[in-house]
Amino acid sequence: MPHQPDTIVEYPAGALSSRGTVLATLPLPEGLGVVLDRTAVHAVDAGWPDQPADRGLLAAHPIRDAIVGAIDGAADGGDILIGRDIPVRTGADGWSFVVVHVLDPDAAVQVGDDVEVTVDARYRRALSAGHTACHLASLALDAALAAAWTKEVPADALGAPGFDALACASSRIHEFGSTDVYRVGKSLRKRGFDAASLDQLDAVEDAANARLAEWVATGAGIRIDRDGDGLGDRRRWVCELPGGDAVIPCGGTHLTSLGELAAVRVELAREDVEGGIALTMTTTATPAAQA
Ligand SMILES: [Zn+2]
Repeated sequence: MPHQPDTIVEYPAGALSSRGTVLATLPLPEGLGVVLDRTAVHAVDAGWPDQPADRGLLAAHPIRDAIVGAIDGAADGGDILIGRDIPVRTGADGWSFVVVHVLDPDAAVQVGDDVEVTVDARYRRALSAGHTACHLASLALDAALAAAWTKEVPADALGAPGFDALACASSRIHEFGSTDVYRVGKSLRKRGFDAASLDQLDAVEDAANARLAEWVATGAGIRIDRDGDGLGDRRRWVCELPGGDAVIPCGGTHLTSLGELAAVRVELAREDVEGGIALTMTTTATPAAQA
């Protein structure tokens, strides 16, 4: 496909349905891949697969999966690469990024069709709650560990030393929660992190949970700022906390306010691993009772 543009994505604005035109279909081991000009479906990113794909329907066919595809603008043919075949990060210059909806292999969908997409609203909301809680928990953990640093390191969105950014090994969003794994080893110690601060893990956990309770009680508004509507355009999670906006680069979906949550709590667990400590933070978001 010559000069395929990015898929226009409507989920950052909260859309749960969209209409689009089929631009390409591709047979995949998992089923039939379908690329539209625009979609409300959030796809999982191969390079940083934190938030799972939305569930839903495309032209009444169940969407089995949705994955980010990439097209090298400099290559002839414009093949759509997916998964580990993508050699660049989403948003890289010179590449186009598309949502590949994966349907049953025999789904009757053809290039040029005008199709409706609908997203499972309950599942989307559960993932959005999990993703919002994940960002908030990372900030609370950074704040709880602020005194553990003996050297200056890049600050997080609220000015605390950025433990999360420096130590995070993996982050997975699920319904109403997330699991983050951090590696505390030689390189983090060299940067000035005192691992003894993790000896009193209960105190760190309590401090993080106290901060989370404060933030949730503000009911602060949340919005997604974006540089454009293409899948590869940069987007940012902005939480309008009373002390100032917290801004974190993010391509996922989120709640629109902390008022949608009754509580966010974290549990920390440590494990000694070769060369250091693996710290696991399990975050749980409790939705506010709906009127
Ligand atoms: Zn995020």
